[in-house]
Amino acid sequence: MDVNALADGVLAGERSAISRAITLVESSRADHRTAARELLEKLAPHAGRAIRVGISGVPGVGKSTFIEALGTYLVDEGHRVGVLAVDPSSIRTGGSVLGDKTRMADLATRADAYIRPSPSAGTLGGVARATVQAMTVLEAAGFDVVLVETVGVGQSEITVAGMVDTFLFLTLARTGDQLQGIKKGILEIADVITVNKADGSREQEAEATAKDLAGALRLVYAGTNAWVPPVLTCSALEHRGIDVVWSRVIRHREFLGKQGLSDKRAQQQLDFMWALVRDELDHRLRTDADVAAVRAELRDDVLAGRLPAVAAADRILQAYDS
Ligand code: GDP
Repeated sequence: MDVNALADGVLAGERSAISRAITLVESSRADHRTAARELLEKLAPHAGRAIRVGISGVPGVGKSTFIEALGTYLVDEGHRVGVLAVDPSSIRTGGSVLGDKTRMADLATRADAYIRPSPSAGTLGGVARATVQAMTVLEAAGFDVVLVETVGVGQSEITVAGMVDTFLFLTLARTGDQLQGIKKGILEIADVITVNKADGSREQEAEATAKDLAGALRLVYAGTNAWVPPVLTCSALEHRGIDVVWSRVIRHREFLGKQGLSDKRAQQQLDFMWALVRDELDHRLRTDADVAAVRAELRDDVLAGRLPAVAAADRILQAYDS
């Protein structure tokens, strides 16, 4: 593989080179990993200049419709937009639900947009690694906005929040998850919230929901000088309110400031380093031959109540350390 030629192709913005580069960074083959590391070393100095935005919400909230609307709006404004996805269902099943290109048919045809389905590398850590590296590829190729889509399920939102500058949370009118959302900590990572499907007979309901949610948030943030996530309404289907959502994303960046943004990204790098180490250790633990040799026996002993979990854990770690 000619890594230099591939890097040149990416830097020139060639789509086929971008696709091959992302396929390379997604690969778990040892020789590919070495080549990917070399490639990323060449690309890294040209990366880091994009506006990185995470987009999440439950299935059916309108994420792909929204990304289609936001993406085409941004392209029309002169931006180059990359879309990546972190899809937890692709991790379990190997089939990608989220990143299906046909879901953003219009955006996919734009020369200044690039849409990549979620990688299906075995673990969330593996997907996160591939996605962060794909982001480097896109930035080096000159994409100045990168949107990372994920589903509002479990850990994947936290993972995506750890790789973007601004996290955008889509919700619906009166789904009852508004206040629960605060409890679940979703709103701890949301920087901008928008109630989608504010159209037709549901428009008023959406406005009322946004108002309630904004009121609840003001209480949560009362007395702090932290960024208070604005709550907006939009119709992804009718392309209304999209520009206002984007203006709040920009306002959030301005609130962070240059130093704040660079501190945030630095901290994300540090957190990501440990996440990768933990993921790799977990992988080694699961594939270690000495651990495999005692696993079945220890499992039976623990299930039968013959061995306390603490003692069994010690035995597994001993096997691993040896
Ligand atoms: P996702 O699962 O979050 O990606 O949701 P989709 O973008 O696939 O949208 C789910 C359904 O909601 C589709 O039938 C969309 O046409 C519809 N939808 C998405 N956005 C809107 C909107 O702003 N208004 C209305 N009325 N329907 C929408």
